[in-house]
Amino acid sequence: MNKTYDVIIIGAGPAGLTAAIYASRANLKTLIIEAAINGGKLSKTYQIENYPGFESVSGLELAQHLTDHSQKFGAELISGEVTEISGTQNKTVTLSDGRALTCKAVIIATGTKERTLDLPHANEYTGRGISYCAVCDGFFYRNKEVVIIGGGNSALEEALYLATLASKVTIVIRRDVFRAEAGIVDKVKANEKIEIITKHIPESLCIKDDRICGINLKDVDTNEITTVPCKGIFPYIGADPVTDFLDPSLLDEKGYIITKQDMSTAAEGIFAAGDCIRKDLRQVITACNDGAIAADSAARYLKQ
Ligand code: NAP
Repeated sequence: MNKTYDVIIIGAGPAGLTAAIYASRANLKTLIIEAAINGGKLSKTYQIENYPGFESVSGLELAQHLTDHSQKFGAELISGEVTEISGTQNKTVTLSDGRALTCKAVIIATGTKERTLDLPHANEYTGRGISYCAVCDGFFYRNKEVVIIGGGNSALEEALYLATLASKVTIVIRRDVFRAEAGIVDKVKANEKIEIITKHIPESLCIKDDRICGINLKDVDTNEITTVPCKGIFPYIGADPVTDFLDPSLLDEKGYIITKQDMSTAAEGIFAAGDCIRKDLRQVITACNDGAIAADSAARYLKQ
């Protein structure tokens, strides 16, 4: 493939898709590259209640709207995993399948990847008892007991979703306070199908006849072990930025991309937006905000 773009956007989550809308409306020849699902983490989110203009919207629906909108002004969208960005003024974006695409500016909007449960056999049972996507797999746990590990916004939002399907949802948190916003904590506490276990951490999986049948939890104060029977385990224990293909000089100590207010990075012509950058508030709306600014800055950079 030998096409040159004005701007290549890596990642089709809310930040990347918004950047594509702004870049293509500014008449920039724009390409979006997505390694997994269009819409990113949004596509795996049950319900969004804090995106202005939509009192309540399913994550998948909002992701579809954003994806459709992103291409309305001419941006192209392809699948592929970026492994390298090289060059200074003219840049080459290399994909894992060997394709090399050239452009003048890059916007990185690769988001984050969920942390996986660090227990013996957890990998083996991922997809058959352990799931990182309640929206995708919740259906398989209708009228069954499930356990959610973690107390952030993701864990609690998906707990409310799973409570519509499962017979019982147990949320396990390692402290005695939630990390999630107060509003959603109140909803979870008011849900009769949800039980909360505080100050416990996962210790091991219970497996019978090659199926998950529960999880053993350790009390962080007493080390006592409790078994919670369940058919499904949904870990929502945070996420790490997808930035391992970048030069470490662009990143902070946790791997997040360091950006200035205009979303520029330490590398000329490389901008970044969304959950993969160092910032305080990771929301769909703040990702869209970053994407708009990054595209505007890329357009100004290209005019210079
Ligand atoms: P998060 O906010 O980092 O929460 C991770 C949770 O997992 C915390 O309760 C944490 O406990 C727990 N945890 C971490 N490691 C653990 C371990 N090894 N064992 C047991 N528990 C562990 O992650 P998130 O919920 O995925 O959210 C990521 C970002 O996206 C956040 O900025 C969040 O606000 C944002 N987000 C926003 C929305 C929304 O606004 N609608 C929805 C989803 C996500 P501690 O609290 O004790 O550290």
